[in-house]
Amino acid sequence: LVSSKWKVGKTAVKIGDDLLIGNGNFQVMAGPCSIESEEQIESTVAHLVRNGVKIMRGGVYKPRSSPYSFRGLGQDGLKLFYKTCQENNIKIVTEVMQVSQIEPMHDYIDIFQVGARNSQNFNLLDELGKVDKPILLKRAISGTIDELLQAAEYIFSNGNERIMLCERGIRTYEGAYRNTMDLNAIAILKEKSHLPVVADPSHGIGVRKFVPQIALASILAGADGVIVEVHENPEKAFSDGQQTLSYQEAEALYENIKSTLALR
Ligand code: PEP
Ligand code: MN
Repeated sequence: LVSSKWKVGKTAVKIGDDLLIGNGNFQVMAGPCSIESEEQIESTVAHLVRNGVKIMRGGVYKPRSSPYSFRGLGQDGLKLFYKTCQENNIKIVTEVMQVSQIEPMHDYIDIFQVGARNSQNFNLLDELGKVDKPILLKRAISGTIDELLQAAEYIFSNGNERIMLCERGIRTYEGAYRNTMDLNAIAILKEKSHLPVVADPSHGIGVRKFVPQIALASILAGADGVIVEVHENPEKAFSDGQQTLSYQEAEALYENIKSTLALR
């Protein structure tokens, strides 16, 4: 169902009532790795509004490698996130980690994000196939392209056709950076599937200074959107500060995205 052989032409996925991604529509999603406070949400929303970015990312349920790391503000944080975004017409993409979170999160989000660690949680994928919200489905940490497509198939075959495939880097033997951003996968996914493809250069390389150029390379590889980690003070971020852009760095990237899109 997600294959280009099944559907001719590209799919534009609707986000909320007024946004599209795919089939020529490009979207930027930006914000912190983790939602940390009301003040942080307000500051980020103001940054996004100033720059015409319409979708804010931010985790309230965080899959952390160590159980002692910050694990997110949960549903209370989501309500704060929703309030400020609602007032400013900013859409929310945030990670859902388990089936029991779907229902309480549903009315406060615009896109359910499935993280790399849950990309083959087939029960979660089945249930997300039954909701009326778009899904940002990340590639598993050591997942193949076909495994990502099959994960999408779980969602699609349950009735939810609004899926974005996300390349976020894979684990390889290389230790010079966090993950290996697979630009090849973006080109291949665009060929194999009609669904939009989103690039996550922040997790894809995991090193702040290289994030902008990998974001732009992803666009040239064919991405329909990028999701980037941005924070007022990356050094102080509760998670993933090492790969998070400052507002100033993000603003330069937004400008360069416009000129890169003009090249395609
Ligand atoms: C995130 O987006 O902050 C995240 C945890 O991503 P991933 O699932 O790709 O590691
Ligand atoms: Mn992160």
